[in-house]
Amino acid sequence: MYTKAEIISLLEDDKQNDELFSLADKIRKEYVGDEVHLRGLIEFSNICKNQCMYCGLQCTNKVVERYRIEPEQVIEIAKTASGMGYKTIVLQSGEDVYFTQDIMCHIIKEIKSLGVALTLSIGERSFEDYKAFKDAGADRYLIRIETTDKNLYKKLHPHMDFENRLRCLKDLKGLGYEVGTGCLVGLPGQSISSLADDILFFKEIDADMIGIGPFIPHPQTPLKNSAASDFTLALKVMALVRIMLKNINIPATTAMETLNSNGRIIALQSGANVVMPNVTSTQYRDKYEIYPGKICLNDAPEKCRICIENKIKSIGRTISTDFGFRKK
Ligand code: SAH
Repeated sequence: MYTKAEIISLLEDDKQNDELFSLADKIRKEYVGDEVHLRGLIEFSNICKNQCMYCGLQCTNKVVERYRIEPEQVIEIAKTASGMGYKTIVLQSGEDVYFTQDIMCHIIKEIKSLGVALTLSIGERSFEDYKAFKDAGADRYLIRIETTDKNLYKKLHPHMDFENRLRCLKDLKGLGYEVGTGCLVGLPGQSISSLADDILFFKEIDADMIGIGPFIPHPQTPLKNSAASDFTLALKVMALVRIMLKNINIPATTAMETLNSNGRIIALQSGANVVMPNVTSTQYRDKYEIYPGKICLNDAPEKCRICIENKIKSIGRTISTDFGFRKK
């Protein structure tokens, strides 16, 4: 187990990168094996009431064309994904108030009747909502803390509250969800020391899943002129998370592939064991633009599945056929 000082020195020094990545790969193999879990991602609404400074879906962006996939169609897309072999469906959206507790519970119950695991990633909600979603059958919830540097959090999230984000994570854990969180890497003003704090925070709350996303500037946001994250730095944070948390699920995030054309495979060989192919209908994909340069924008869900399966098999890994809960 690394101390904060050791994490900082590993993040600052690039001489030990190869050892770091192979250690993370070894721990991945030992604790979660060679199976890769595929989660079918449905981006069902890009309407958002928040103003996260880095995100292309923030409410002040008047250029992006907004869409909302109606509940019955979300259920249809989930059915198709389940038919393609996905054992987990992930529902992600901006914070769209149209999706009330009742509407979400209806969608959750219908999707759960397909016999899949269900993950929600729809932002900050009340304890009562989280409880109702859990009672309706939701298994997991993803909500990244984004950064544990409170001052930076405040600057990047006008009208939002770090303490409420923490409250969400606590409520979700208490309700028995498998909880996924994570951070952005390479945000303007983010220090190496705060990235070390992020990793220690994930350990402290015993997160079940950690998604590490390299920051990519979006032209319709206040951070448009900032530099994109360094790919290697994001990969190192991810590898350290594997080494520190051992048996959790770690996705090879899509943003990694935007920065490096082989990014997801490199991530799978440096600690990751999950991939989240997009199963959203092609007509909506380019509109869910949290960052520019998203991959596979024009690919049909079937094509994405075959493409990633082939890549995974080419590095000697297999596609899991189970639900992919955290291995305890
Ligand atoms: N509304 C949900 C889902 C947010 S989108 C929620 O609040 O949890 C999923 C993730 O995309 C965010 O958590 C954020 O980490 C990431 N993201 C947003 N803008 C990004 C950018 N410009 N570059 C890289 N990742 C970004």
